[in-house]
Amino acid sequence: MIYDLHSHTNCSDGTLSPAELMALAARAGVDVLAVTDHDSTAAWQQLELCKAQSIQVIPAVEFSSQWRKIGVHILGLNVAINSEALKTGVAFQQQARRQRAERIAEKLHQAGLADTLAGAAAIAGNDNLGRPHFAQHLVNIGAVGNFRQAFKKYLGAGKPGDVKQCWAEIPQIVSWIRDSGGTAVLAHPIKYDLTRTKLIALIDDFIAAGGQGMEVVSGKQMPNTTRDLAVICQQKQLLASCGSDFHQPGQPWAELGCFPPLPEQCQPVWQHW
Ligand code: MN
Ligand code: MN
Ligand code: MN
Repeated sequence: MIYDLHSHTNCSDGTLSPAELMALAARAGVDVLAVTDHDSTAAWQQLELCKAQSIQVIPAVEFSSQWRKIGVHILGLNVAINSEALKTGVAFQQQARRQRAERIAEKLHQAGLADTLAGAAAIAGNDNLGRPHFAQHLVNIGAVGNFRQAFKKYLGAGKPGDVKQCWAEIPQIVSWIRDSGGTAVLAHPIKYDLTRTKLIALIDDFIAAGGQGMEVVSGKQMPNTTRDLAVICQQKQLLASCGSDFHQPGQPWAELGCFPPLPEQCQPVWQHW
């Protein structure tokens, strides 16, 4: 059985529609698929997901948060999409994103660039509206010569458009997930580039907040990484998850359904579903 419990559609920053993702999952031999768009459950509304023949689809989401000023991601797996708790969470995060974008536009206005919000939003589409979209918009309107200049003059660290993103804190996110019947899983622990000590501190804080699992396998990764994470997972008595973090075809490190299996000592996150 292939469980791919981390994937994205064009309802966030993936390139495939939910239906296209399902078709690819079928070709890739995936048996159980979680669609985990960033702070969005919109893919679920597209019925193709539910109608899929052989594939079991797990309702899920990937929430953005921060820990000691580092952006971290938390998967809500097997959630009740229509529960009040989850709807509250998704709405909160979307508002946080929107507010930050408005603040960036305001700051750019003060710096002499009026009305950048709509243009940036159009570029972002379903993607998380952020500084790169503003940068592209500034290039498009000729305010700067190129993307790099947009950051150098307006959007980079310490520049007017450098506005902090305030996602919900980890305990809040874990509550939304658990209150909606889901399992809270720390996504791709090694992508945060933390020292071992800090990674353990993050995991301990996550557990203290009620977190239940961690991704032991995220896409194609080195065998020693899998071993290390499996040891931590077992020591911390967390459930283990695995997934590709698929966003688009042609990324060999994150192809749908293609990743090493969970080590045998791991307790799979799906065992109590
Ligand atoms: Mn993404
Ligand atoms: Mn992520
Ligand atoms: Mn992801």
